[in-house]
Amino acid sequence: MGVIKFENDSFDIVITGGGVPALAGAVIFSKLGLKVLLVARGFGKSVKKDTARKNISYAISPSNIKLFERCGLKEEFFKISEDVSEMHLFEDDSCLKLSSDLSPHGYLSKIVYHDNLYRLLVGATQSLKTFHSIDGSIDDIGYTANGQCRVRVLTGGKKSIRKIQANLLVVADGASSVSRHILKIPWGIKNYCQKAVLANFSSALQPNIARQWFSGDEVIALLPTSKNSVSMVWSQNQLRAERLMREGKSRLRAELSRILGTSIMAQIEINSEMVSTPLSMMTVDKLVSRRIVLLGDSAHTVHPLAGLGLNIGLFDILTLVNEFEKEMQVDRPFDVGSSAILGSYMRARLLKTRAIQSMIDTIKVGFSTGGYAAKFLRTKGMSILQQSDFFKRYIVKFASSIL
Ligand SMILES: Cc1cc2nc3c(=O)[nH]c(=O)nc-3n(C[C@H](O)[C@H](O)[C@H](O)COP(=O)(O)OP(=O)(O)OC[C@H]3O[C@@H](n4cnc5c(N)ncnc54)[C@H](O)[C@@H]3O)c2cc1C
Repeated sequence: MGVIKFENDSFDIVITGGGVPALAGAVIFSKLGLKVLLVARGFGKSVKKDTARKNISYAISPSNIKLFERCGLKEEFFKISEDVSEMHLFEDDSCLKLSSDLSPHGYLSKIVYHDNLYRLLVGATQSLKTFHSIDGSIDDIGYTANGQCRVRVLTGGKKSIRKIQANLLVVADGASSVSRHILKIPWGIKNYCQKAVLANFSSALQPNIARQWFSGDEVIALLPTSKNSVSMVWSQNQLRAERLMREGKSRLRAELSRILGTSIMAQIEINSEMVSTPLSMMTVDKLVSRRIVLLGDSAHTVHPLAGLGLNIGLFDILTLVNEFEKEMQVDRPFDVGSSAILGSYMRARLLKTRAIQSMIDTIKVGFSTGGYAAKFLRTKGMSILQQSDFFKRYIVKFASSIL
């Protein structure tokens, strides 16, 4: 990491935010030779303790493996992740089984713990020559007389102020993005009135199978994090989730048995604290502004039932890098924040992201709809799909290319 003179120093890219998309962006942009500054609260103070993310494991889609390849981290990523070779979806007695035999990749997705992925990316930043970082946050965004983006950064517990210039500001500071507020970019939120309860379990279940149960408006996923452990994401009514959090592990076992049944329960044992996080879908009116791009949860959030939130953010970065590379081939001076790059990025991502958000929301509403007829249609539909390799192959292909 280089030593920098901060006051009025200039960078190709300033990234605000310290989550997985921000770090992956920092690595991949630096590898292109761009001078990058990461502004993230708590960055550099060992692996941060983020309680909301503590027990989260992500299902990473095959489409995003390219990102780790481009970061030079594919091998390491494969070592810290677990293959999903089958996915079993349940509602009542119906079960739809998808298998990696139907996928060209040999796996449906790869499961990785947030902390392991975070550590991998932080480790990768250490050897980058054009990467710099500040433990701080941005409190003002404007432009210099020559049109560069200028940000004011608060550091040292908000005691000192630095002014920094960049050709591009990448906003990746999460769903409650301060930068989005400073930029006055309109955003909308659909509150699902649900919370996800997360916990990890030791498991004697058959490994490498992701299992998901739909029960009314609740969704429980058990993701295989290793050969003998699974990670639970249980989306449920906010009040029920809060009660579960208050009453603890014995209540969790009793409630889980209701949906998973005693045979599954006999094979799993909770071995972590429970954490919970509220669920909503957030949309923004625009993904780019002059010399500014929004990505990750600052630009979009989705219900976790499809395991796509982080995947969309990672694909934002892949798209942006592709736009950089296309522009580098053109015979004119390269400007990382040019309107040509940002325009193409927005055309590639805005409608796509909205479409994915609408699709996940429709699945959420579809599975929450009560009544005999709706339930009959769902379970009948699952049985028909289960019998057709053609449709199952289509679903697997669609899921792995949706981003
Ligand atoms: C229960 C649950 C399960 C999920 N499962 C999956 C899954 O299986 N697959 C998947 O793809 N996605 C999944 N997701 C979604 C995924 O967790 C998020 O999409 C992803 O973590 C978003 O990353 P982010 O960096 O954009 O935002 P965040 O993770 O919120 O990170 C924002 C970062 O910015 C920093 N920051 C915030 N404000 C500032 C500031 N002012 N200045 C500097 N830094 C700041 C924060 O400290 C943090 O490090 C799940 C989400 C939930 C809730």
